[in-house]
Amino acid sequence: MQRDVVVLVEHRTHEVESITYQMLAAGRELANGLGGQLLALVLGHELSRITEGLRDKGMDKILVVDEPALSRNGAEAQSYVITEVVRRTEPRLVLVGYSLVGMELAPAIAAKLGAPAMTNCIGIELREGSLVVTRPLFDGTMHAQILLDDSAPVVVALQKGMTPSIPAAAKTAAVEPLHVDLQNISFRGRLLEIIEEPASGIDISKAEVIVSVGRGIGDKEKLSIIQALADALGGVMACSRPVVDVGWLTRDRQVGSSGKTVAPKVYIACGISGASQHLSGMSESRRIIAINKDANAPIFQVAHYGIVGDLFAIVPALTAAAKKQ
Ligand code: FAD
Repeated sequence: MQRDVVVLVEHRTHEVESITYQMLAAGRELANGLGGQLLALVLGHELSRITEGLRDKGMDKILVVDEPALSRNGAEAQSYVITEVVRRTEPRLVLVGYSLVGMELAPAIAAKLGAPAMTNCIGIELREGSLVVTRPLFDGTMHAQILLDDSAPVVVALQKGMTPSIPAAAKTAAVEPLHVDLQNISFRGRLLEIIEEPASGIDISKAEVIVSVGRGIGDKEKLSIIQALADALGGVMACSRPVVDVGWLTRDRQVGSSGKTVAPKVYIACGISGASQHLSGMSESRRIIAINKDANAPIFQVAHYGIVGDLFAIVPALTAAAKKQ
């Protein structure tokens, strides 16, 4: 039975993305449980800095495919190469982060391999030797646990923030270069340019006052009332993850396990329910004020002051009061 775990290493501008260290931690635990090896797979061109930086991260081997064509051809070439490597190494599990890269690659690899793809997973574990993944359903209001049969490989894309990063290990991983011939393959798409998402230029982790907004705001246009309160208090606007996911604010404003950790003097949570992933990023704030129309919202369990009511009435009233000070 196949026992190895392959983790895809995500990197950008010669730096490993933090999500990869979390996937390696999950992969290490699963490989130990399966009695197999943890293999990190690095793809791209001019990879020596990436590879060297990974060697003390507790994996058994680093597989490296260094081909100039990989930096020109995006997901199409990458999924081709990963599939080739998986065919050669025959792992039980291919683990990728559920990032923009993983979202695109996981189904493509699975389709090429004829393997199941489990995306958007929030947990993965071994139960009596079998892999069990957890996925959110219906916008996170329910979770499904799925037992995967022992056919291999399976491709799993795991969300960021589900495990800590892998710590440094005493042993140094061996590096194994692999060659995958891309010369005679004609890829249909060619990567022209990577355009960075514009940053807000604000570092929420340094702010003393944060007015944070959640899905309860309901509409991008209405963010102006949150910004007005932040301005009146000399603070900054931050948010929960759904606000970023729908594109209303940039990711550098997100508080939580997959965003930033903040500990301001005052944190005002407006229309935020208080999911554990949000709380882990702000519960060390000195004073937490929560505004929520649901008296049972979990945010009230960490709030020092709670206001049960409609944020569209309360936030402008607070702004007006702050302006009078
Ligand atoms: P909801 O849970 O939908 O809550 C909206 C709240 O608004 C409700 O409590 C509602 O009562 C209230 N409301 C609605 N209308 C009004 C009104 N008019 N006035 C007052 N209150 C109103 N989340 C994060 O925030 N940060 C993270 O870093 C993060 N990382 C995650 C990582 C993983 C791996 C996973 C699985 C999830 C992560 N999440 C994160 C998502 C998290 O689980 C929650 O889904 C999210 O925090 C919910 O955001 P929310 O509170 O804005 O929305």
